[in-house]
Amino acid sequence: MPIPRPLCQCRVCREAREKGYPFRRTGPSLFLHDQNLLIDTPADIAAQFNREGIHTLKNIMLRLRDGL
Ligand SMILES: [Zn+2]
Repeated sequence: MPIPRPLCQCRVCREAREKGYPFRRTGPSLFLHDQNLLIDTPADIAAQFNREGIHTLKNIMLRLRDGL
């Protein structure tokens, strides 16, 4: 879940709205540069790639929910 959470007024979310990055967090994922491998992709992966200057993606590893 990204921070700030929509509609949440807790201290963490208010601080993230006020101060921005690095207090503002996107959804969890892992990118291994040497293998050009993205593990899991949150909905806001485009913002993460732009922020980190990642311009190519060759491999993606996703975990499917149980029952799929
Ligand atoms: Zn919150």
